[in-house]
Amino acid sequence: MLKERVDELAAIVGSENISAEPLQLEVYSRDPTVIRGTADVVVWPRSVEAVSKIMNFANKTKIPVYPRGAGSSLCGGPVPTRRGIVLSLERMNRILEVDVDNLQFLAEAGVSIREINDRLRPHGLFIPPDPASEVACTIGGCVANNAGGIHAVKYGTFRDWVLGLEVVLPTGEIVSTGTKTRKSVSGYDLTGLITGSEGTLAVITKIRAKMTTLPESQMVTTVYFDSPEDAGRASFSIMIKGLNPSAMELLDETTMGTISRYLTMRLPQAGAMLIIEFDGHRDDVDKKIAAAEVICREEGAVEIKTPATEKESLELWNARKTAFQSLAVLGKTSILIEDVTVPISRIPEMLRRIHEIAQRHGILVPTFGHVGDGNLHPHVLYDEENKEEYEKAMAATDDIFRTAVELGGTISGEHGIGVLKRKYFALEHSQLETEVMKRIKKLFDPNNILNPHKIFPEEE
Ligand SMILES: Cc1cc2nc3c(=O)[nH]c(=O)nc-3n(C[C@H](O)[C@H](O)[C@H](O)COP(=O)(O)OP(=O)(O)OC[C@H]3O[C@@H](n4cnc5c(N)ncnc54)[C@H](O)[C@@H]3O)c2cc1C
Repeated sequence: MLKERVDELAAIVGSENISAEPLQLEVYSRDPTVIRGTADVVVWPRSVEAVSKIMNFANKTKIPVYPRGAGSSLCGGPVPTRRGIVLSLERMNRILEVDVDNLQFLAEAGVSIREINDRLRPHGLFIPPDPASEVACTIGGCVANNAGGIHAVKYGTFRDWVLGLEVVLPTGEIVSTGTKTRKSVSGYDLTGLITGSEGTLAVITKIRAKMTTLPESQMVTTVYFDSPEDAGRASFSIMIKGLNPSAMELLDETTMGTISRYLTMRLPQAGAMLIIEFDGHRDDVDKKIAAAEVICREEGAVEIKTPATEKESLELWNARKTAFQSLAVLGKTSILIEDVTVPISRIPEMLRRIHEIAQRHGILVPTFGHVGDGNLHPHVLYDEENKEEYEKAMAATDDIFRTAVELGGTISGEHGIGVLKRKYFALEHSQLETEVMKRIKKLFDPNNILNPHKIFPEEE
């Protein structure tokens, strides 16, 4: 980008809120995936007016803009694949209002989920969707991706919690959507449309979201099985018997092994484990734990262990949250993280078929995920330098996506499409459905400057 253009941006945000330093550009040109881009400049606006001016400038000059929260995306979502401006919301990080009477809060886009919940907890309140990245990921990024996480099985994803947004359109116009009420059928649901649009329709600057009371009690049990398929069957039975767990996570044998090595934490040896949590009134929670354990035994559980203290439960959840990082002990250079989601009745079959796919291609695919809502994260591991292994990894990934769609599922339950899954988009969406989505994109962003060349396959 020309120096004069950078100077124009500096005049908008202030010289302390802009960088074209090579190291900064390198950091802001990636996310944890294999996708890499090239940023020309990074800006950290501090107000909606500054965001509006940046978008106005970009729209006139037709320079691409890439909104970014914490950059924890697992699909290349914020990566500047066509050069341009990385617009980081990190410095718009204030919680503006906690309205206890109406069970809602208003926050700027750059606040992390952990910070929000730390602020709500003293009021006995919380916002339940909690991606495993909650310590870093921002509420703007979570709304843009309609993120989920461990508690989505009971409480839903961010879409279920957002009441309204303040957004800046690619043209620079500032729009407020939604209401303060808990229901509304007044006009089109722009809040719902922008939620999950992966930063391609508008830059989110403020979020008004619901919160709820912290449960009186929470209890966790761990159940071990000979195979992921047995664990999947047990999880399905728990769901259809209406026990309504607040979390139900599956870890396969390889993931359990990597966590044990990474954290030097001793998990028993088994083919798979379920971590099951219930929350609510104490009596009810106790009854549900007992009922879930009966179901698990009927489905072939080989061992059941209930953490004795709250500290042990917390350690268990921390272990689950490091599952992704722990795979590093396997020493592979690259990971393709998948996010397939199937109807809950098809979970056992999906788990069996992931195992078969891994065996057929002779490749490692450790799998864990939010099994209660059908959302699995198979991690296809390979060495980048090894061409044969790379090809096997691609073929295995392809098979996993095809299988999920064949079973009535989706190629992304919570991470989004970004760059990584664009080529699989047509597996799930008809040409006409895709065309309608592209018309919406054009309406919001006539010059295709906001996070361009994401989601849709044919924009190569
Ligand atoms: C260890 C680890 C665990 C994870 N666990 C989970 C999990 O359990 N559940 C889950 O759903 N995800 C999970 N993720 C993925 C990721 O954390 C989520 O997708 C999260 O929502 C991204 O938030 P972010 O602030 O990092 O956004 P970024 O990664 O910076 O951006 C994500 C997308 O949102 C857009 N965007 C960001 N901010 C804005 C904004 N203000 N306005 C418009 N668009 C914007 C970007 O352009 C991009 O397309 C995990 C990631 C890691 C690394």
